[in-house]
Amino acid sequence: MEIFARLRGRFPLLALEAPFAFSRHTTIGTGGTCAVAASPASERSCAELVRFLQEEGIPHVFLGVGANVLPREGWYEGVVVRFCRMRRLTARGMRVYAGAGVTGGALLSFCEQRGIGGFSAFSGIPMSVGGGVAMNAGVRERHFSDVVRAVLTVQSGKMRILRAEECRFSEKSSVFFRGLPVLGAFLEGVACSPREIARESCYFRTRRRVLPKGRSMGCVFVNPKGVSAGALIEQCGLKGMRCGGAVVSDVHANFILNEGGTSEDVSRLIRLIKEEVFRRTGILLREEIRRIP
Ligand SMILES: Cc1cc2nc3c(=O)[nH]c(=O)nc-3n(C[C@H](O)[C@H](O)[C@H](O)COP(=O)(O)OP(=O)(O)OC[C@H]3O[C@@H](n4cnc5c(N)ncnc54)[C@H](O)[C@@H]3O)c2cc1C
Repeated sequence: MEIFARLRGRFPLLALEAPFAFSRHTTIGTGGTCAVAASPASERSCAELVRFLQEEGIPHVFLGVGANVLPREGWYEGVVVRFCRMRRLTARGMRVYAGAGVTGGALLSFCEQRGIGGFSAFSGIPMSVGGGVAMNAGVRERHFSDVVRAVLTVQSGKMRILRAEECRFSEKSSVFFRGLPVLGAFLEGVACSPREIARESCYFRTRRRVLPKGRSMGCVFVNPKGVSAGALIEQCGLKGMRCGGAVVSDVHANFILNEGGTSEDVSRLIRLIKEEVFRRTGILLREEIRRIP
């Protein structure tokens, strides 16, 4: 039976979209089509969905707001699990629970109104809480791993809370890349006046004004130890290099902009950058972006 019918039969109330175009739901704006996208409305229904997909061996991929992914071209006979309807946000003192589908902007304004500081550094990063936790998103000063106390997930078919130490956070990585969904995150902030939070957020947002405009995935490569990946790419003279509609930004060489190209153009450009940087410097760049599916 086709995937849509199997999902509809098992979950009559689940929001489904078929087919689902990756290009419309990713910041890079490229990629092929997936058979079905499913958007559960709660942590529990998401856990049931993930358990079903795992038990039935149905291929699936998790998608936040699509700000750090490069979707493959072509048809994907599987399911995109979306978290956009899971937007529960609650606070007790400085402790915050945020569902995986809460956007960075919603989290920041919720915390600002309640005088919960510690999140301003994330201001302006396009993300969902689920994607932010999975990627350990952040800037130099602060990453998600600094504010996460625990994460609600599904392990061996059961809902489980992982303590921060169990999440294996590292540079742009976490245990959630091993097929575990982030259903929601327990975060901890610090007391701060709304005015001070607004001032800090403004500082971090302003700092981002110099970033390239256009369709991108943010930084493509992780900075190697002690070096900026963007500076390395620039030193190799690769700013402005193009493959089809994909181009290395003139403003920040760690950004690839999509000017009407495909994921294959972007992939080819990534390969050329890696080869050239390695040839000239001996440094092998590691990708920060995630390829899906
Ligand atoms: C213009 C621009 C600027 C950026 N600046 C920054 C920056 O300053 N700092 C930074 O860290 N990043 C930056 N990024 C990258 C991106 O914003 C972050 O990586 C963000 O965390 C991605 O969140 P997302 O919801 O879009 O995740 P997606 O891109 O949708 O997914 C990213 C990865 O997480 C997985 N995932 C998503 N949701 C879940 C979930 N609920 N459970 C399990 N896995 C999940 C996906 O399968 C994928 O592997 C930037 C991107 C852009 C386009």
